[in-house]
Amino acid sequence: MSEDSLYQQLRSHLSYLRMYASAEALPAELDYATKKNLTHTAFLKRLLDVEVQATEARRRAGLERFARLPATWRISDFDFDAQPAVDKKMVEELATLRFLEDATNVLFIGPPGVGKTMLAIALGRACVDAGYRTYYTTAVDLAQRCHRAALEGRWATTMRFFAGPRLLIIDEVGYLPMASEAAAALFQVVTQRYLKGSICLTTNLGVGQWGKVFDDPTVAAAMLDRLLHHSVVFNIDGDSYRMRSHRARSENVRKGVRAGIKS
Ligand code: ADP
Ligand code: MG
Repeated sequence: MSEDSLYQQLRSHLSYLRMYASAEALPAELDYATKKNLTHTAFLKRLLDVEVQATEARRRAGLERFARLPATWRISDFDFDAQPAVDKKMVEELATLRFLEDATNVLFIGPPGVGKTMLAIALGRACVDAGYRTYYTTAVDLAQRCHRAALEGRWATTMRFFAGPRLLIIDEVGYLPMASEAAAALFQVVTQRYLKGSICLTTNLGVGQWGKVFDDPTVAAAMLDRLLHHSVVFNIDGDSYRMRSHRARSENVRKGVRAGIKS
C-alpha cells in the first residue's frame, strides 16, 4: 500500500473514531515526527495528547454550560473584611471541596445583599473548575420545573435530574412563600439527595421561620432535619453589601459635591 493511501486510511480511521482533533493535527504531527526523528511511541503520544486535550476541553465546556451559573464570581472576589460574619477559614475549607465527599450541605442564611448568592456561585465555580457536575437553580425555578414535569408526566425523570449533579445549588429559598406542591417538590429533591449529594442552599429565612413559609410545617421540619444533619451553616447578618457600596458611593458624591462647592 502506498504511503499516501496509508495516510488517507489513517485519517479516515481517526474520523470514524470521532478523533477529529488528532485527524486535524495528523499532517503537522507527521511532519514534526519526521523532522525530529521521533520514535513511534513518541509520535503516537503526541498525537493522542492532542485528542485528550480536546476531549477534556469539551468536557469542561459541557460542565460549564450544564451548571448555568448566573455569574462569574470566584471565592477570591469575596471581600471578607467587608463581611466579618463570614468565617473565611470555613469558606477556604469548603473551597477544598472535601465537603462533597460526605455529601455535606452548605447553608447561607441571611438578609438580602449580604453575599449569599455570591458565595454559593463561587463555590459552584470551584466545583466546575474541579470537574464536578454542578447545577444552579433558584427555588422558584425548581418548583416551576417540577410543576411542569408533573403535568407532563416527567416527574421521575426530573427527580433523577436533580439527584444527578455532585453539587446542587438552590438559591433564594423562602423569598416567596411556597405552596404545598412546590414545597413537596423541594422536599423530594432534598430527601433523595440526603447523604448522597451536597446541596448548597441560600435563604433569607432563619431556621425558626421555615415553618411559616411552607404550607405544611411538618414538611418544613423534615426538610430542615435532612438539610442540617450533615451541614455547614453560615449565618450572615450584618449590612447589605449593596447598601454599603451605595452608601460609600453617596458619601463620595457628597464629598465631591462639598469639594466642588469649596473650590
Ligand atoms: P444575597 O444573595 O445575599 O442577596 P448577593 O450575593 O447577591 O447577596 O450580593 C449582592 C451584591 O453585593 C453582589 O453584587 C455581590 O457581588 C456583592 N457582594 C456582597 N457581599 C460581598 C462581599 N463580601 N465582597 C464582594 N462583593 C460582595
Ligand atoms: Mg441572593
